Formats: sequence, structure tokens, C-alpha cells
Amino acid sequence: MTTPTEKPLVVVTGASSGIGAATARALAADGWHPVLGARRQDRLAEIAEEIGGTALALDVTDAASVETFAAQVRELGTVRGLVNNAGGAKGTEKVIEGDEEHWRWMWESNVLGTMRVTKALLGDLIASGDGHVVTITSIAALEVYDGGSGYTAAKHAEGALHRTLRGELLGEPVRVTEIAPGAVETEFALVRFDGDQERADKVYQGITPLVAEDVAATVAFVMSRPSHVNIDTIVLKPRDQATGMRFNRR
Ligand code: NAP
Repeated sequence: MTTPTEKPLVVVTGASSGIGAATARALAADGWHPVLGARRQDRLAEIAEEIGGTALALDVTDAASVETFAAQVRELGTVRGLVNNAGGAKGTEKVIEGDEEHWRWMWESNVLGTMRVTKALLGDLIASGDGHVVTITSIAALEVYDGGSGYTAAKHAEGALHRTLRGELLGEPVRVTEIAPGAVETEFALVRFDGDQERADKVYQGITPLVAEDVAATVAFVMSRPSHVNIDTIVLKPRDQATGMRFNRR
């Protein structure tokens, strides 16, 4: 296992692509030692090598995988930051045609996954004396839209779990920040539409969406504030987007 440096450790879940990969890069540039977790090991290893971080296998839907991951993180040193980012969406079925498999996937990865990883590392973050939990929810954690019930329900639940920490950790040396992005061009839509690239491309057609680096810069910003400053929530959207459903398409 890679021997960590003196740099503070930050865990980024779902760091094999999109927002997670960009966040690991941005935090490495800010002097953190990122520990990258996800299922696709080849991609993780490549990014970790590029930025001088550590890649570790992680499936947030599997309790045993989360336990092993947390134990390996502990071997590297004291974790000071956690970015709960792993997750995503599956499908756009209306409630009348709700797909239980899609719902389960979204709840397991976004909600239970965030609970498992947070629970596993929270004691360490408290013991570090200056911890920070950042959770990437979504504007889907704040509003609902037609065809989005499985995802908006999961993201609302993830947001509720995350916001509960703010009160439960009051008095502990741990900051808690929710970042709720609108449309970001990543592999998100490709995963949502089961690999259908044409359908995924339509999501971003005629608009200028956010890119992963926009969200990563926001994470780096909140994590680089002085320890007494807790930024509770940041909502960021493309200028071309008003709500989950309303876009300015050219
Ligand atoms: P992405 O490119 O598809 O990245 C998703 C990441 O999550 C991947 O690294 C994936 O890695 C990881 N992941 C999925 N299931 C996992 C599991 N069971 N265990 C561990 N890792 C898992 O999409 P993204 O846009 O960057 O999404 C990142 C987060 O931002 C998600 O929580 C998403 O809901 C949220 N978000 C996205 C948007 C958007 O428009 N893109 C907007 C608001 C919020 P592996 O497949 O290698 O495991």
C-alpha cells in the first residue's frame, strides 16, 4: 500500500469519473492527499497516479466493501475530509411505470451508500480535530420533476441524511457542506440511459452545461475556508438552467 505523505487525507467516493475525478484533482492541487474510491479500478489507478493520490476499491452498495475500504484508509493515516460523491440516476419513468430495480440502485448508491461511508469514517473525522464532510447531492434534492421521482426521492433522502449531520455534529470539530449542482456534463446521463449515448447527448443539447471542474472548484473552495467557517449549502446551476425541467435551449 502507498505510504501517505504528511498531507491531510481526503476520501473522494466515485472518483473514477466526472465530478469525483475532478474533485480529487482539485483537492490534490490544493495540498490534500486524495484517497480515491470507486468500482472501476483501472480508471481510479490512472487518476491516482496522475495526482499522487491513493486508489482503493470501493462499492458503496456493499457493506463489507465499505468496511474494508475504511480500514485501508485508516492504515494511510488520519482522514480529515470526506467527499460523498458516488451515486447517480437510472431511468426517467413516471410513478405509474416505476421501475423497482432502478429505485433500488438509486437508493443503494446515493442514500445507503452515503450513510455507510459517512458512518464508517465519521469517528475518524471527529478524532482528526478538524474534519469536513462534503456531500454532492443535486438540485434534485431540493425540487421534484416529472419522470424523476426515483432520483429526486433518493437525492431528497441523501440531502436529509447529510443535513441531519449539521445538528448531530454541533460541538464536534467537523464541518458539513452540501453541494447541489444542476446539469453537469459527465457520464451521469449515459449511466441514467443505460449507455444510450444519443439520448444522453440530448440532455445537454443547445445549452452550456456545467463541467465537472466547476463543481470540483466549489468543493475546493468550501474546504479551503478557515476551520470556523461552515458553508452549509451551495446550489450551482448553468446560467441556461432555471429548474430541473426548465432550460434555455438554443
Ligand atoms: P458519473 O461521471 O457517472 O460519476 C459517478 C461516479 O460514481 C463514478 O465514479 C462511479 O464509479 C461512482 N459510483 C457509482 N456507483 C458506485 C458504487 N456503487 N460504489 C462506488 N462508486 C460508485 O456522474 P457525476 O455527474 O460525476 O456524478 C457524481 C455525483 O454527482 C452523483 O452523486 C450524482 O448524482 C451527482 N450529480 C450529478 C449531476 C449531473 O448533472 N451530472 C447533477 C447533480 C448531482 P464506478 O462506476 O467506477 O464505481
